[in-house]
Amino acid sequence: MKIAIIGLGLIGGSLAKALKKAEFYVIGVARREETLDAALKAEAIDEGSLELEAVKPADMIFICTPINLILSELKEMIPYLKKGAIVSDVGSTKQAIVSQAEKIIPKGVFFVGGHPMAGKEKVKFEAAEVDLFKDKVWFLTKTRKTKVGALKVLEEVVETTGAKNLTLDPQTHDLVVAAISHLPLAVSAALVNTVAGQSKKELMSQSAASGFRDTTRIASGDPELGVDLFSTNKKAVLKVLDAYKKSLTQIEKLIKTGKLAKIRAILEKAKNFRDSIYG
Ligand code: NAP
Repeated sequence: MKIAIIGLGLIGGSLAKALKKAEFYVIGVARREETLDAALKAEAIDEGSLELEAVKPADMIFICTPINLILSELKEMIPYLKKGAIVSDVGSTKQAIVSQAEKIIPKGVFFVGGHPMAGKEKVKFEAAEVDLFKDKVWFLTKTRKTKVGALKVLEEVVETTGAKNLTLDPQTHDLVVAAISHLPLAVSAALVNTVAGQSKKELMSQSAASGFRDTTRIASGDPELGVDLFSTNKKAVLKVLDAYKKSLTQIEKLIKTGKLAKIRAILEKAKNFRDSIYG
């Protein structure tokens, strides 16, 4: 099977490395010559091109560009897609991409949305890792228009990266990631900016230890990606942000009124739920 990857950044580069390790033939399509050279040098791809036409022989194509380019890349590659080809993407939000992609994908070619729950603060090919997806969830979307056979083939390919498939509809996906990924980014950025706005911020920075570092890790992520997340998942993000503000206000009220037993109960509830996730 020949697999093409469009965009060889953190996610696309890691996918290329993982698929090469699984012995697929990998075609890389990059924007910049330097990225292509780096991917060829690292043997993450078998062949590379700066042109989308390179997807012609591919049985499967993963679009791994920033979210706001995924649909335009899909549109542009349509004339080159071979019959039976399966196209997926790795965009972190799914409703807009999947609904539009399903409208424009020609007959005889299949689109199934995807999103690996893997990432780190560094981006671009230099940060790509062969094991980035190992034991991580890889969402695949299923709608009324999804071709079950295509979904199955995609699942099998995704599993070779070490990821665990989780199939769900785009709307549920966007709500889930709003809560566990996009809200934490908003909270993390707001927390860092709160400290940055304090007159004693120098002293606070010098004293910050692992608690502050762990709570704010994702504030060091790519700001461009953050903008894409908030703008393409606005409704779900606002919904969970509202719930979060209520939760924070509740803690604020309890601190003001000194209701210690209630504060303890809230902290215990949070501890139990978090421990049930991470042990
Ligand atoms: P990245 O490291 O910045 O990679 C983006 C890639 O797209 C780069 O290879 C870049 O090319 C290429 N690109 C950028 N602008 C382009 C343009 N105008 N035309 C053509 N190619 C262009 O970003 P990433 O973190 O891998 O994110 C890629 C996708 O993965 C996004 O859709 C994101 O939502 C999704 N995702 C990200 C994470 C995460 O935590 N980072 C997690 C899951 C999913 P050059 O390298 O040549 O500049």
